[in-house]
Amino acid sequence: MDPFRKLPDDKQEMQLVLEESTADKADKRKKYNRIAARIGHTVLSLSVIAGICFNPNSSIYRSAAAGNLTLELYLFPVIVFISFVLYYIASLMNPGYVPIATGEEDGEEDTTTLIKSDHASYFCRWCDQPQPLRSKHCRECNRCVRRFDHHCPWLGNCVGERNHRVFLYFLIAEDMLIFKCFSMIWETSRRSNEVLEWIQLNGILVVCALILVIGGLAVTALACCHFYLILHGLTTWEHVSHSRITYLKRWPEDSSPFNFGYCKNCFMFCCYCSTQNWEKYIKSLT
Ligand SMILES: [Zn+2]
Ligand SMILES: [Zn+2]
Repeated sequence: MDPFRKLPDDKQEMQLVLEESTADKADKRKKYNRIAARIGHTVLSLSVIAGICFNPNSSIYRSAAAGNLTLELYLFPVIVFISFVLYYIASLMNPGYVPIATGEEDGEEDTTTLIKSDHASYFCRWCDQPQPLRSKHCRECNRCVRRFDHHCPWLGNCVGERNHRVFLYFLIAEDMLIFKCFSMIWETSRRSNEVLEWIQLNGILVVCALILVIGGLAVTALACCHFYLILHGLTTWEHVSHSRITYLKRWPEDSSPFNFGYCKNCFMFCCYCSTQNWEKYIKSLT
């Protein structure tokens, strides 16, 4: 028996082990990135909120210290709470993963339905299974996502069919929170007239204001983009890759077969919770 004959097999095995270990490392890195995004958002938001609320000149601090139960004292924690809840829902919920054809069930659609339906025109080479219309494979999540919008590193999750509306509500709540924080900073910074006293008291507020300006501009721009796309019945991915997407190629820029008019687009976005069968709809058009 020639011992060297085993070498090719050993090499193949080693190659497989190496590939598996690289894939494991990549999965771990992605998992840590998701956790880091959530911790980062929580720590940054709470630091800014604490920096404003614990400033002795802020209206909320003065009201709480004096025992005055003002509307702001009730309203501000509610906005903070809503913003955090929406963030965590959008970040942790299933964005609309296409069920993997190994018997995994998604609650709304099982694998049998997926394979038997007319999705065969698209195929995901990474998931090795049919890909529904308007879905896209996300390399970060390593899954196909229905009505894929984008992978949001800030959420550590994809934005897709299921969590797109929660994501938009989060952007609106976050904008309201940023605006409220900014107005509190403005009001607080006007209370001290002496320059030295102002710097001593408001040094942290300046840092908070800088974070809020950057965050506010980003969140507002993102919210405006999403309003525009929702009105036109498009997703971010469809808008950016319009000319490269097979089912959109023949449509003019910024239009799609999924544009039902402003009102119906908004209604569908806000009120349709069930999985949409876009293949059936496209078939009905032809
Ligand atoms: Zn895929
Ligand atoms: Zn993703």
